[in-house]
Amino acid sequence: MTDLSTQLIHHAYRAPDGFDAVAPGVHKASTVFFPNVKALRTQDWKDKSGYTYGLHGTPTTFILEERIATIEGGRYCVLAPSGLSAVSLVDMAFLRQGDELLIPDNAYGPNKAFASVELKAWGIEHRYYDPMDPADLAAKITPATRLVWIEAPGSITLEFPDIPALVAVIRRANEGRSRPIISALDNTWGAGLAFGAFELGVDVSMQALTKYPSGGADVLMGSVVTADEDLHRQVLLTHMRLGLGVGANDAELVLRGLPTLTLRYQAQDAATRELATWMQTQPGVAQVLHPALAGSPGHEAWRRDARAAACLFSVVFEERFSQAQVDAFCDRLQLFRLGWSWAGPISLCAPYDVPAIRSATRWPHKGGLVRFAVGLEGEEDLKADLAQALSTMRSDG
Ligand SMILES: *Cc1c(COP(=O)(O)O)cnc(C)c1O
Repeated sequence: MTDLSTQLIHHAYRAPDGFDAVAPGVHKASTVFFPNVKALRTQDWKDKSGYTYGLHGTPTTFILEERIATIEGGRYCVLAPSGLSAVSLVDMAFLRQGDELLIPDNAYGPNKAFASVELKAWGIEHRYYDPMDPADLAAKITPATRLVWIEAPGSITLEFPDIPALVAVIRRANEGRSRPIISALDNTWGAGLAFGAFELGVDVSMQALTKYPSGGADVLMGSVVTADEDLHRQVLLTHMRLGLGVGANDAELVLRGLPTLTLRYQAQDAATRELATWMQTQPGVAQVLHPALAGSPGHEAWRRDARAAACLFSVVFEERFSQAQVDAFCDRLQLFRLGWSWAGPISLCAPYDVPAIRSATRWPHKGGLVRFAVGLEGEEDLKADLAQALSTMRSDG
């Protein structure tokens, strides 16, 4: 080798083995080398016994997958570039033309949009069910039903469903079926900490790692965790064919968030309950929705099945406030910023038009709704911010 470029590309130096530190290494690759042709022909990537191509996993992504599977109490995990791509991966892994999909009426909006546009165009029908009524789920299952999404609690309105009852409906329907119905939980809210998805009987647990596991509001990622090897295989092969993968730097960011995951979850849980309870006492507030509050829909199921709650609560204002006043309330908040997502360091809020996003259930409220996501700021500062915006709203109303 005389050419400097060749020398640099094929450099002989190897750093010694045995480097050990807190953070796992960040391994980046498209190409992965094989020692010989036999290895190139035979190396299998599916059982994580080795490496074949960056898209099929590197030490960094394997480590993150194992840790997410552990958090969720499952056995297998695949990573996707966003929470939403993890949702669509589950749909595409299990649904074929002619199949039917059932989605809770209060589900994460883009989950519904993927079904109503993309899946529909491929000949896969979907229907919405009332997640608070297992009998409604039972009534909507047909011989073509193949997949049922569950979300606990619902994205904006935070009703906590009776997961074991929904799973029991699916298991009953599966008696004697050759292609059993699969249950998939969007477990972003619970993050694997509030309750064990597999203990409650679901088949597949999907998460937006964008939220708690990252915790930084600076990375997008999703995961699909399974306990059953056959289900994992289906997800893994669809994942490979779709060409889904995550970058090592993004995996590194999520790995960096995991050691503080339980501490952040607990701290945000405590602050959220405090603020939600306080909001309930404020004039002008019709109802506060949070599964840990008595009277919030699904509170009993949450108490029985969960041991913690995430950083979200929603406030329904009294009817006397117009949507313009509710919007002005949001604009007036200083610490609660306007924006999507949650579980990052900064508190967020956003108004929602709930009747516009419901089709299978009746929304009982007339006043405007604002969803709050509590960050890691001081609780008293957040309360003072809410108080100033509320007080201006009331004096305007
Ligand atoms: C945020 C979120 C998702 C999607 O995650 P992205 O990474 O933003 O695509 C899915 N489900 C729920 C419940 C979420 O809150």
